[in-house]
Amino acid sequence: MLDLHTHTTYSDGTLEPRALVQAARELGITHMAIADHDSTGGLDEAREAAGPAGMNIIPAVEINTRDSVAVHILGYFLDDKDAAFQESLSKHRGLRNDRARQILEKLSRMGIKISLSDFGDRPDRAALGRPHIADKLKEKGIVFSRQEAFDKYLANGRPAYSDYDGPSPREAIRMILEAGGVPVIAHPGYAVSTELLENLAAEGLAGIEVYYPTHNAEQVRNFLETAKRMDLVVTGGSDYHGPGSGHERLGEIEVPERALEDLLERRRRLFG
Ligand code: AMP
Ligand code: ZN
Ligand code: FE
Ligand code: FE
Repeated sequence: MLDLHTHTTYSDGTLEPRALVQAARELGITHMAIADHDSTGGLDEAREAAGPAGMNIIPAVEINTRDSVAVHILGYFLDDKDAAFQESLSKHRGLRNDRARQILEKLSRMGIKISLSDFGDRPDRAALGRPHIADKLKEKGIVFSRQEAFDKYLANGRPAYSDYDGPSPREAIRMILEAGGVPVIAHPGYAVSTELLENLAAEGLAGIEVYYPTHNAEQVRNFLETAKRMDLVVTGGSDYHGPGSGHERLGEIEVPERALEDLLERRRRLFG
């Protein structure tokens, strides 16, 4: 069984890589991609835990872009030791910290006091995101869930929202290609237009995440057709973020086994 989209504490997942590997193994997952936002820091720990458990970890990343809709670009089978790639990710995490500061300032003006140092217990090379701020709001008893924190404060258009000055989708695709990875558009059901997909394909986008928890049967059909028409690899995943995250469907998304071989085949086609 396959899951090509999961998160750990190296971004906004609630499980450490080791615990995620354990949970996946118990559900019968044999191949799992760890695709943390703007970080590959969890891969080594996951690989260490996966070997003895007879599981395979696929190196991946999910790069959040500054596009107005939630354009997230996944990268598969990239070289996570590539120095230039790591430097770019580190820069993006810096921009995330700047954004978090802006959000915390807005919250502070609303009488909610959280400081950046409250997030200091996360691992090195971990990316800070709005879900972490949501968790603090929960800890303080201001909201009951991450979702409520987004609905009341953090989502686009809500009072503590602040823009992310991150990379463009095209820069994200470039970065992944330069690290030897296969760029795939994440959860295209979140308002990604055909026009955008066509533009991204011209920039080197090579795959589309067709199987995803919020995609209905009609969306799946449409995205399969788009994949065929635009020669994109079909992938899928649960976007599992761990217990308490609200994204908890590990092992529930059926991803065709051939997705792995197709990604590897595309990688060979791209890089020889
Ligand atoms: P950030 O990386 O800080 O922009 O946060 C993005 C993450 O927050 C996404 O990957 C989702 O997991 C979550 N998220 C974004 N928008 C919403 C929303 N409207 N409701 C719930 N979760 C959201
Ligand atoms: Zn996330
Ligand atoms: Fe995403
Ligand atoms: Fe994700």
